[in-house]
Amino acid sequence: MRGEKRGMDCETRRPECCPVCASRLVEPVYWAHRAPGLWEVDLRCPECETEFSTTLDAETAHVFNVLLYEAADDLAEGMRRLEEEWASGVAEQDGRFVEALRSDRILPIDF
Ligand SMILES: [Zn+2]
Repeated sequence: MRGEKRGMDCETRRPECCPVCASRLVEPVYWAHRAPGLWEVDLRCPECETEFSTTLDAETAHVFNVLLYEAADDLAEGMRRLEEEWASGVAEQDGRFVEALRSDRILPIDF
């Protein structure tokens, strides 16, 4: 999620905030549409394992949903960057290995 993952300004009435440890990483495990503009949500904190339920109005549910999509985008971007770093690290190692082979710095006795 964007910003600090935990903080004193984490308002416990916000669904992404854990009422126990103030983590901002609370995630939904179940959503149910209870009435027009009213959602019942079961939530779980991944940091302290607290599980709790709450009811969200349409606006709060929408804001929470946007936050979850942004978090998923951040995660996907982080994975893409990790893959790039890993791939460039492997390419660099391969290059050094080939260079060592060509300059006879790696011999059969090394294996
Ligand atoms: Zn927590």
